[in-house]
Amino acid sequence: MQDSKRPVLKHILACVLFLGAVTAVLAGTEKTAKKATTTNLFVPASATKAAQAINRGALEAPLRFLSDDLLEGRGVASRGDQTARLYLASSLELLGFQPGAPGSSWQQPVEMVGIKSHAPKTWDFKAGNQAVELKWWDDYIVFSKVQEPTASIKNAELVFVGYGIQAPEYKWDDFKGMDLKGKVLVMMNNDPDWDPKLFEGNRRLFYGRWVYKYESAARQGAAAAIIIHTTPSAGYPWQVVQTSWSGEQFELPAGSEPRIQVAGWATEDSTRRLFQAAGKDLDKLIQQAKSRDFKPVPLGITTSLELTDDIDRVKTANVLGLMPGSDPKLKDEVVILTAHHDHFGIGAPDKTGDKIYNGAVDNAAGCATVLAIAKAVAALPERPKRSILIAFVAAEEQGLLGSEYLAKHPTFPPGKIAANINYDGANLLGRTRDVSYIGMGKSADLDQLVAKLAAQQGRILQGEPFPDRGYFYRSDQFNFAKIGVPALYLKSGTDFIGKPAGWGKEQAEEFEAHRYHQPSDQFNPNWTYDGMIEDTRLGFFATLSIANNPTLPTWNPGDEFEAARKKALGK
Ligand SMILES: [Zn+2]
Repeated sequence: MQDSKRPVLKHILACVLFLGAVTAVLAGTEKTAKKATTTNLFVPASATKAAQAINRGALEAPLRFLSDDLLEGRGVASRGDQTARLYLASSLELLGFQPGAPGSSWQQPVEMVGIKSHAPKTWDFKAGNQAVELKWWDDYIVFSKVQEPTASIKNAELVFVGYGIQAPEYKWDDFKGMDLKGKVLVMMNNDPDWDPKLFEGNRRLFYGRWVYKYESAARQGAAAAIIIHTTPSAGYPWQVVQTSWSGEQFELPAGSEPRIQVAGWATEDSTRRLFQAAGKDLDKLIQQAKSRDFKPVPLGITTSLELTDDIDRVKTANVLGLMPGSDPKLKDEVVILTAHHDHFGIGAPDKTGDKIYNGAVDNAAGCATVLAIAKAVAALPERPKRSILIAFVAAEEQGLLGSEYLAKHPTFPPGKIAANINYDGANLLGRTRDVSYIGMGKSADLDQLVAKLAAQQGRILQGEPFPDRGYFYRSDQFNFAKIGVPALYLKSGTDFIGKPAGWGKEQAEEFEAHRYHQPSDQFNPNWTYDGMIEDTRLGFFATLSIANNPTLPTWNPGDEFEAARKKALGK
């Protein structure tokens, strides 16, 4: 079991055992069909043979092609982006999928607006007769939230609003009905994390992400929102705020949703200095905000600011392929598999002079995984009961925009989407004793499904490694969760067979430091595929089980996405 040859034998054995176990489960469910719960497996016996279609070639070929220098890093709206889309659509067509986008098209066009804001070198505030000046870059970073040539705040008052959260399920409302129209809201980052019963304790929920905070301020009709940066509450240092927010920012074209004019971040030190000028103690206010009884605190500080924006419009697309379900009723429902096809294109050269950001692991590997699952689905003698939609989504690296567009313009109504399974990255280092997924603990149905499938591969399910970092909200499945769809972001394990303890973690850290979002994330002919094959087969079985299960998976009661699901289901 520890050397490199034995696992192959064990793998064959596992498949045989798997077949036996599935047959037993299916036999059991026939008798107790009425009591069927989502924790049973609904994987047909024929799946074992179809899963053989997921082999090294099925994974390596698309991975090698998509990360080739000829694809030029698949930068948004580039020739490489178009080539990748053409390849993915053609591959789905070869496998027998149908065009999945409206108008019998393979591609769902996604238009995006790029905004590059120019901020003044200093931002001036008035506290009574005192003037306070914050320095751009060192003290604050701001950007426009309107797609206009200018974004402005005029003589607006600052109000401290604690976390800036309204969460009925936790009976939490930081605004308490106060009129915040036209104000500049100053907010703490993260969500309440000191009590396991409040906002799931240490786990960062959507309420703790900057995306939520700016949207929350917009719902109040505010003019601007400033998030106070601290390294523990953000999970990253100030320098990440500086580099991530100072370049061009892409968004979907503005609709009728409320928008603030200006969004920004300020360092804790500069916020403290600003508050002091108005005779307010930041630390005391933060303490007050850690209570349900907190009310917004007007700070007696006013400010004006004007940003000029360069606006740019570009087009890309999501590639969608459909395998219609075999059941006359359930075919109207769908399981959506996603992987983003974009990366960073051609950019600044690294030390070796390489400027092509190939994005092999991120995310040619995820596309290869989903394509291999599509191949196995196509190899089944009978199609799954529900439809399967393969979605290679665009512009993930620009802020999950392709999946946001798809979730806002879904090809099946949200209540008819059984689940989303997303892939970003893959394990190219060998087999693991464990499996993990981001977002585990939010849906008992999905947790049990993955645990059972892992057990059949002789593996164990591990919890999410860093729940406080909010990874669930930083990848494409999140946009589906937002419209209520239960979502799985499947990840490989870290406990590698034949390697010392801690090796997997070291490899992950090595990748993050030296290859993640760098030109060196490129194809390696020495990669091993055993682990990726096993992970992909697990995803294939999970897809089938969800597609064939008479019952839809659900979020856990009280989960942050439960209300959206109920709404989607008309409950
Ligand atoms: Zn990435």
